[in-house]
Amino acid sequence: MKKINRRSFLKALGTAAGAAALTGLTGCGGKTSAGTSAGSAAAAGEESVAGASLDIHFHSNNKYTISDGDGKLLPVFQKAADALGITVNNTANPVATNSVQEFELQATVQFPSDIYGGTSVRQAVNSYAALGAFLPLNELIEEHAPNLKAFLEEHDEVRRSLTAADGNIYFLSYLPDGGVGRTYFIRTDWLDKLGLEMPTTFDELESILYAFRNQDPNGNGQKDEIPVFNDKWEEIIRLANLWGARVYAYDTFNERVVMDENEQMYHAWIAPEFKEAMIGMHKWYADGLIDPEVFSRKANTARQTLWTQTNVGGMTHEFPASTGNYNYNAELLASVPEFHLAAFKPVCKNGKPFEEHHRVVAKDDGWAISAKCKNPVAAIKYMDWFFSPEGRIASNFGIEGESFTMVDGKPVFTDEVLSQTSVQTYLQTHYGAQLPIGFAQDFAYEVQWTPQEGVDAFDLYNSEVTYAKANPTLSFTEEEQAVYDTYVSTLNTYLNEEVTGFITGKLDVEAEWDAYVAKCKAMGVDELVKIYTSAYERYKSL
Ligand code: CA
Repeated sequence: MKKINRRSFLKALGTAAGAAALTGLTGCGGKTSAGTSAGSAAAAGEESVAGASLDIHFHSNNKYTISDGDGKLLPVFQKAADALGITVNNTANPVATNSVQEFELQATVQFPSDIYGGTSVRQAVNSYAALGAFLPLNELIEEHAPNLKAFLEEHDEVRRSLTAADGNIYFLSYLPDGGVGRTYFIRTDWLDKLGLEMPTTFDELESILYAFRNQDPNGNGQKDEIPVFNDKWEEIIRLANLWGARVYAYDTFNERVVMDENEQMYHAWIAPEFKEAMIGMHKWYADGLIDPEVFSRKANTARQTLWTQTNVGGMTHEFPASTGNYNYNAELLASVPEFHLAAFKPVCKNGKPFEEHHRVVAKDDGWAISAKCKNPVAAIKYMDWFFSPEGRIASNFGIEGESFTMVDGKPVFTDEVLSQTSVQTYLQTHYGAQLPIGFAQDFAYEVQWTPQEGVDAFDLYNSEVTYAKANPTLSFTEEEQAVYDTYVSTLNTYLNEEVTGFITGKLDVEAEWDAYVAKCKAMGVDELVKIYTSAYERYKSL
């Protein structure tokens, strides 16, 4: 995230908010109902907000708002408004632009809409909240959000993940479901052709990759096979897992301070085993096992290019549903009828394999209520609706009779939905389902468009694979956040350059390693580890 001077924002908000930030009061001018006594909670929970109106500024994935291209509210958001008898207006710019910048622009006008949200804005919301710009939701939830309250009581890890450093909840996150993130997939048609078995050890995998490279499994007489590739270059770095090195804390590539089995934080990219991984990965790169264009290829094009278009790709580490679907890709099967992928379990050079990529408890995407909100009760009730039984179905599956039908009490997508290239994108753009507001994802949504090989991958990883200890979603104090903002972006830029050099051979790992570690220390690596440690200690005490 870019560095933001939030103190100047505090000045702009004026003395009322400044005082609120200092004394821990809620927002501006006593407009909130957060101070309502607990005794009236039950009665207040029934209170109607019909006739209220909410302005919502939500911008996600650099392109989505809660309205369609014509400015009409997306069906799921309209359904939520209808359920409460309120009016909802989209105030976010419908133009495709950077969602975080769209959010930050609103700081310059002091967040005038009622609800704010989008992708990757959790830390920013918590920082602005510390300056009085967003309402603490704890009492609002307690008194007016029975569905959300019940959900948080049932999911303590979610409650802790949503809690900011000052003990309040300001931000309701998108809560993924399903556990398994990426898994390893390999071409079983190539294994069959070369008379090889699925790999169960590092050495077996390595010899398979050399066979893919040297024995022409695509049968065109050319040495054009690319045994290992990824849709994103950041993901190829995670191959270091095969040498026993950790790489990312969870599914955000910027998070590189990880914890060991004893819950001690360390920076993954300067660990001794990471050095061994760089030496090994350089050898693989030099021997043609790793995609030579991995650092220059356009993101999210490798599977399409190296499977569908050129049939040269061997193995990857990707999401089970979308990857398994290549087994049913008509265009691909027309030219390579025998094409087939299956998942295999991680292997490790040190004999202790693990998978690192697990879905996070709470994403950095979601929404919050502005301190300027004219009706906080209506806002929290609107947010609560998405945790009600009908809201959970709508936020996952869309609209009954249109995107799904109920079969034996369960939502089942229509053929039209299931025939889409990307079910998720279709639901987001046509219905507003699966947009990353504060909602709880239901894995049943994904299972319906996951092919058998993807389901097999989920089962294999859920039942037989050891996962590395993942960081929970951590919240920083203002002081910690300032440290983070000072170091993390420039450090990561440096790490990316150096590690690219190590893998491609532009830099010699043995010769450069000590200087690289020293430079990382000079760039704040120890300070970062310190703030992650204190944030984690606080998380554990919640
Ligand atoms: Ca070939």
